[in-house]
Amino acid sequence: MNHSVAIIGGGPAGLMAAEVLSGHGMQVDVYDSMPSLGRKLLMAGKSGLNLTHSEPFEKFVLRYGSKKQEVETWLNDFTPDDLREWARGLGVETFVGTSGRVFPKEMKASPLLRAWLKRLTAAGINFHLRHRWNGAIATGEGGGSIVKFETPDGIKTVHANAVILALGGGSWARLGSDGAWVEWLDQAGVKVEALKPSNCGFDVAWSLHFREKFDGQPLKSVTVSFGDFHQQGEFIVTREGVEGSLIYAASALLRDEISQNGRAILELDMSPDRPLEWLIERLSKPRGSRSMSSHLEKTVGLKGVKAGLLYEFISKDDFANTERLAFFIKHLPIPLIATRPLDEAISSAGGVSFKAVDENLMLHKLPGVFCAGEMLDWEAPTGGYLLTACFASGRVAGLGALKWSNAG
Ligand SMILES: Cc1cc2nc3c(=O)[nH]c(=O)nc-3n(C[C@H](O)[C@H](O)[C@H](O)COP(=O)(O)OP(=O)(O)OC[C@H]3O[C@@H](n4cnc5c(N)ncnc54)[C@H](O)[C@@H]3O)c2cc1C
Repeated sequence: MNHSVAIIGGGPAGLMAAEVLSGHGMQVDVYDSMPSLGRKLLMAGKSGLNLTHSEPFEKFVLRYGSKKQEVETWLNDFTPDDLREWARGLGVETFVGTSGRVFPKEMKASPLLRAWLKRLTAAGINFHLRHRWNGAIATGEGGGSIVKFETPDGIKTVHANAVILALGGGSWARLGSDGAWVEWLDQAGVKVEALKPSNCGFDVAWSLHFREKFDGQPLKSVTVSFGDFHQQGEFIVTREGVEGSLIYAASALLRDEISQNGRAILELDMSPDRPLEWLIERLSKPRGSRSMSSHLEKTVGLKGVKAGLLYEFISKDDFANTERLAFFIKHLPIPLIATRPLDEAISSAGGVSFKAVDENLMLHKLPGVFCAGEMLDWEAPTGGYLLTACFASGRVAGLGALKWSNAG
């Protein structure tokens, strides 16, 4: 039996595993159901590819929350700085943005992916597109695994010393990662936590008037609070509710609250740079014949969607009481009634449990089969933490598959 590894899933995690293995002289075949590779990576580059973050490592690893310990072991071997160096090796220079986030100078993902695929092809890696793994996996004679793919030419059976599953999460299914593997691995006895939306939006029961008027409007320079979470930034009002970077940052907490209590109350400060007393003093100025809307704009600068939110959620009596009005400008409760569907989320929480894999990311139930990337049970906010951990876990799985194949 020749030393070959089958990698299923050609996203950042699978391609990184492929690179590590081929660098050690292994024969590597990458299979993907889509007609081209790295579609989610390309999509991530549409609004500026946030590759990683420049904050100190000790702070960086905290972003993985309850899975810090597990993810940190991957990152120790492939740090955010290593990732920047790796990108440089592909001719992609990076820079640190004002928020500390790291982007390629060209912002897009396509130059990086193009250069990477060129290098991987030159290294002799074989790519098999339109090959959809259908969940079939069995142990072959003399170890190794047998996997089956649906291809345009019918079912194809492949034998490999080791298999790496890098199938992604369950969001944006049209880009290839549809989460179908959850059921297959579950049936194989692998412990898988249900996939849940992460970095996602939420539903709000807006009135028809508010929805029609403010759909797509950004709320800039606001602070959002929920429990211990307080962060300034911006988000967007949508027809269905709210989405955008500030909402995504709080989304894991909000999602868990909704799943436990049916709803979550987000607190919004629409004037975070002004103390309550300032607002009271300004709002107390005589209104004269001015409408309340123009009084709000003239005295405290609140207009458009911000003023609209006050009309949406507070009573006439609260408007008539200056202290109450000022209080709600700084502490407006917005009830979130549901999490937006997984398919719309930036990423997935849940996935293959860390209890189901060893330190090399090999499945206990399926020796010789490894997992990498977003399909493992961790989550992180946006800020480059997702891609960094996907790349780093791909390395771990690749090195694990190498050890396994060499030992076999
Ligand atoms: C809009 C958007 C913007 C984002 N922006 C950023 C960002 O700026 N920074 C950041 O860090 N992260 C970002 N992310 C998240 C990041 O893109 C993902 O976390 C990352 O791509 C996951 O990598 P992966 O290799 O684990 O899986 P994926 O990239 O999802 O790749 C999985 C691959 O497996 C293939 N596959 C799945 N099932 C099968 C099957 N049965 N048979 C064969 N092939 C299969 C898929 O076709 C796919 O090619 C963004 C995501 C989205 C949706």
